Amino acid sequence: MKPAGVFGGTFDPIHYGHLRSAFEMMQALDFEEVRFIPCGDPPHRGVTFASAEQRMRLVELAVSRQRGFRADDRELRREGPSWTIDTLLELREEFPDRSLGLIIGMDAFLGLPSWHRWEEILSQGHIIVAHRPGWKAPDIGVLGELIAEHGTHRIDDLHVETHGRVHIHAVTQLEIASTEIRELVAAGRDPRFLMPDAVRHEILNTGLYRGE
Ligand code: ATP
Repeated sequence: MKPAGVFGGTFDPIHYGHLRSAFEMMQALDFEEVRFIPCGDPPHRGVTFASAEQRMRLVELAVSRQRGFRADDRELRREGPSWTIDTLLELREEFPDRSLGLIIGMDAFLGLPSWHRWEEILSQGHIIVAHRPGWKAPDIGVLGELIAEHGTHRIDDLHVETHGRVHIHAVTQLEIASTEIRELVAAGRDPRFLMPDAVRHEILNTGLYRGE
């Protein structure tokens, strides 16, 4: 079975920036699927604007028409803070022999050492870093060492091994941010062309983000 990508985020709301980079990764790395996993209780963010159920619904609408894209609600079903390591441990139990690739942006990667039990992540899956232009991969410090020790340019390695590699991959950067979308909707403007129409309709029809 080909690898599964694991793409977590607050997705408050999901937009084409997320979808395009996940799609490019799935194609370029020849992954079978990408699982979008909205965090139930984001430990790093404190508050979300839409509820976990609303963010999940938007993710479901966003991925429903793309083969290989899946909405995964496991972090909503779990009690307590949504730690990535717990999500990977759960997936690993479900798929003992499958390659798993945790997809994160370079900005998120730079904050990795502050994640709960981050050093265990590579024992469950690979880390796939979406390189956004303007971000340089660290070559010193703990992340520099991590790349020196576990980094690979070879996509084959991500298929042959089930975990333990760091792969940095450039994706087209769409300068879209959830924060700006929320501000735009709160100001009564239309988020058209920033996200799939199904997501946009759901936001506009339910009045989500209007009260911010
Ligand atoms: P906010 O604007 O509220 O901070 P965000 O979109 O940056 O939202 P998340 O939804 O948590 O935040 O992002 C989930 C993942 O998607 C992260 O790994 C982040 O690096 C990545 N990401 C966010 N925006 C983009 C974008 N425009 N293009 C590619 N990847 C993105």
